[in-house]
Amino acid sequence: MNDTLTRFAAEKLASLEARSLRRVLKPTHRLDGVWVEREGRRLISFSCNDYLGLSHHPRVKAAAAAAVELFGAGSGASRLVTGDHPLFGVLEARLAALKGAEAACIFGSGYLANAGIIPTFVGPGDLLIADELAHACIWAGARLSGAEILSFRHNDVADLQAVLTDRRGGAGRVLVATEGVFSMDGDLAPLDEISRACRRHDAWLLVDDAHGLGVVGAGAGAGSLFPDARVDLAMGTFSKALGGYGAYVCATGPVIDLLKTRARTLVYTTGLPPANAAAAIAALDVIAGEPQRIAAPLALARRFTRALNLPEAQSAIVPIVIGAAETALEAAADLEAQGLLAVAIRPPTVPEGTARLRCAFSALHTEEQVDRLVQAVRPWVRP
Ligand code: PMP
Repeated sequence: MNDTLTRFAAEKLASLEARSLRRVLKPTHRLDGVWVEREGRRLISFSCNDYLGLSHHPRVKAAAAAAVELFGAGSGASRLVTGDHPLFGVLEARLAALKGAEAACIFGSGYLANAGIIPTFVGPGDLLIADELAHACIWAGARLSGAEILSFRHNDVADLQAVLTDRRGGAGRVLVATEGVFSMDGDLAPLDEISRACRRHDAWLLVDDAHGLGVVGAGAGAGSLFPDARVDLAMGTFSKALGGYGAYVCATGPVIDLLKTRARTLVYTTGLPPANAAAAIAALDVIAGEPQRIAAPLALARRFTRALNLPEAQSAIVPIVIGAAETALEAAADLEAQGLLAVAIRPPTVPEGTARLRCAFSALHTEEQVDRLVQAVRPWVRP
């Protein structure tokens, strides 16, 4: 046993514990997409990203089960070796058509996607500019790329313009990265203005729409809320509204071909299990055929924000910002005592002093369940 390693870990844990920042895994049995069982108790979850309840949809489960029977549990190798299952091409064509793009590339997960995409297009001597609240995997990709990294104030296009104007002269290639729907705040990026700023400064735009796909957007809920925005790299995941696992990016043919030959998180990792692709295809079928399901999470989120006099929800995510990590934990425990699960989100997932209950709404929640959450959360809403 390496004692210095164990001591390092124990001291680090104690320091996190003292600041209410230690995290522990809690085994959770998701019973049906809304109800979960934890430590023997049944709770109504407002903490799942399964916005359409598709993780338990009979058609999605059947597609995954059939694919396991036919194709096995895993893909056996990296996509560039023997792991490129034919279903992947089918799924990529579906995604490209959905997003109006020439081509698509799927990845093992959203984290892997952003960690691979960014270093494929920018490197040392280049510049990566991201919204200050962008997801951890965007920053991971940025660091791996070796490009200079700058941020702009959350959703502040004037600040982005200033950063672009200030730095464009010297920099090589410039990639701007943001989220379509912000994962911890639920607000939308002004993509039309951001894309105009990028075009003016000859910068490329990557949008992570993990929380937008299937929830907000035109048509079947999968198009862009900003049809005029030019998004060079339209990334999203199968792990939220599609109820499964995996991720994609849509772009032009050459951009996708370059990713497929150079993105390290595609080249050096095993292909997605074929069943995940089958599940994603089935989920896209459900989304295409059930517009009422897509409309539901936003409608319920708005019922919630109206009842609490909060700014109107823009997506399925509504944060109740509490402040101190410890208080957010107390709030979550208070809700849990009432049979409701809204996990406290603490730094570094959110900025210091903005610990919160992140409430996520699903098409499977009933209005009565949302009203119960309203009552339970009311004492914790800051005036
Ligand atoms: N991007 C955003 C905005 C996310 O919220 C997440 C997941 N929390 C990811 C990427 C990572 O996706 P995955 O869970 O598929 O790795």
